[in-house]
Amino acid sequence: MLKDMKWWGWGDPAYAFPLDEKPLLWPFIQKTLGLSDSCRKTPPIDRAQVRLPEQKTNAGFVQAINGFLKPTQIAIDDEQRLIHTYGKSFPDLFRVRKGIVDNAPDMVLFAECHVEVEKIVQAAKQFNIRLVPFGGGTNIVGGVEHLDHSQMRVTLDMRRMSRVLGIDEGSSTASIEAGSPGPKLEEDLNALGYSLGHMPDSFEFATLGGWLATRSAGMQSDAYGKIEDMVVAMKMVSPMGTIETKLTPKSSAGPDIDQIICGSEGTLGVITEATMKVHPVPPVKDYHGVLFRDFESGSEAIHEAISRNASPTMFRLQDIAETGLAFSMKKPSTGFTKMIETQYKKYLKSKGFATPCLMMIGFEGDADHAADMRRKVLPIVKNRGGHHLGNSVGKTFQKNKFAVPYLRDILMNHGCMVDVAETAAVWSKLMPLYRAARDTIQAQFKKEGYPGYIGCHISHSYVDGASLYFTFAAQQIEGKELEQYYRFKRLITETFMQNGGTLTHHHAVGYEHRPWMEREVTRPGLTLLRGLKSTLDPSGIMNPGKLVPPEDKDSNSPTPATTVPFE
Ligand SMILES: Cc1cc2nc3c(=O)[nH]c(=O)nc-3n(C[C@H](O)[C@H](O)[C@H](O)COP(=O)(O)OP(=O)(O)OC[C@H]3O[C@@H](n4cnc5c(N)ncnc54)[C@H](O)[C@@H]3O)c2cc1C
Repeated sequence: MLKDMKWWGWGDPAYAFPLDEKPLLWPFIQKTLGLSDSCRKTPPIDRAQVRLPEQKTNAGFVQAINGFLKPTQIAIDDEQRLIHTYGKSFPDLFRVRKGIVDNAPDMVLFAECHVEVEKIVQAAKQFNIRLVPFGGGTNIVGGVEHLDHSQMRVTLDMRRMSRVLGIDEGSSTASIEAGSPGPKLEEDLNALGYSLGHMPDSFEFATLGGWLATRSAGMQSDAYGKIEDMVVAMKMVSPMGTIETKLTPKSSAGPDIDQIICGSEGTLGVITEATMKVHPVPPVKDYHGVLFRDFESGSEAIHEAISRNASPTMFRLQDIAETGLAFSMKKPSTGFTKMIETQYKKYLKSKGFATPCLMMIGFEGDADHAADMRRKVLPIVKNRGGHHLGNSVGKTFQKNKFAVPYLRDILMNHGCMVDVAETAAVWSKLMPLYRAARDTIQAQFKKEGYPGYIGCHISHSYVDGASLYFTFAAQQIEGKELEQYYRFKRLITETFMQNGGTLTHHHAVGYEHRPWMEREVTRPGLTLLRGLKSTLDPSGIMNPGKLVPPEDKDSNSPTPATTVPFE
């Protein structure tokens, strides 16, 4: 049974963020965003009022797929069309909550094996159908939205292809169907004693194929790598046939085709299977908290640790703003504990930790490995000014790590814009980039005359640099919500580009980041990507409008700040 997300928000319809258990959080948000108790309430439209657009159909295609799919694999009902309309970015949720669903697919298909995907892609090619592969629908760059209205629009949901096909224990690799959602994939591998160890914040719903198609990064990427570092071989069905790469550890037979498929965002074909590096389920998962006086010294500690080969499973360093938000989620203590905590806070303040930055460090593996890493890493972070809090903060982090995204729905119910933007840069550029992005957004809030929130954390670290992950929020400007959002989104993306950051470290391109692709990869680089697309998908049926801008849209000038891309 597939677990669908809320049609109007993030995640499990049965789960609500436990705001009542966190009495400090809402007052913190109200103060930061200037929200009064009587602020505008903006709940999603009643489901019964959502009108899906009229369906296009193609008799030849419908007849062809009825020849090899069961009726239960073909959906044309409004429920499925609605669920498959968007990803989960702010503009996606803003529109769906208002009942704006003009780009809904005409039909949703559920493939159950590789051969069916081959037949679907061939039928789409024959009848000129627009085909969008769909994993968990968790992307936030417009990746699964249909943009081409000229033909019938079909979304191919991959989640019924979720089996572990085999494990090669001697080589620590597992072959897995691409539609497997995170929890099922881990459960199936864990039952065999293994783990993939890829846990993005969207883990509960995202799929292996979606991760590969977007070059995703999980929380433990410092140890296990990004998803493209874990892949050994793949199968992708393109309109020109199936590409199957060879199962070998390394090869010098030309450019790496696995790496061409990774990040292709459904524009070249449908990934159906992948063989991934796996590791034994770590018996120890030990997460520690460390406080720093400022973001810079925490960042230097990560850099030094990684340079000295003291690389734990996770380094996550929050800046002052994000630490403030994290602490506001803590349950207030009472009685004796409260007394001790007050004294402790006084002590920390006297030592310069009045507005600290929180770092979480994860040590996973067997007991010896985890202990060895702790012995190497903790002295480095302490030498760099870190104050070790122990592992109780780490336990809270582990418990709550998938709950935070649910908070956005509450904010959107109160007329707020909330979204994220991420990048990566080499160490020498990282802190200037961080300050430039933070200061630019803060200055924009000031210019527009309302309070706002911008917080950041270092989410993934490497020997040569790290990734920065920003969250920004403010009250929406009524009637101008999307223009307001795109002013901030464009501004922060421009700041990344002008300060040596990548356009995106792990969220991919979709249509949201497409206008900057030429500046990211150069004009000849774009020509190369267009060549791949036109060779494998000459009629342009696969996820049109994503990743690569059309030729007439090439430009080296910044994108206008207020353009709304899907209008
Ligand atoms: C709350 C939240 C937290 C997030 N946290 C993270 C994070 O920590 N790390 C991270 O990397 N990302 C994160 N994301 C972004 C998103 O989860 C990732 O981009 C994820 O990899 C998408 O996987 P999916 O299965 O949901 O793919 P979808 O959203 O369904 O699709 C994404 C793209 O891949 C294509 N695609 C999907 N499946 C296939 C396939 N089998 N073959 C070919 N193309 C395919 C789609 O056409 C689309 O272009 C987050 C998003 C949200 C909303």
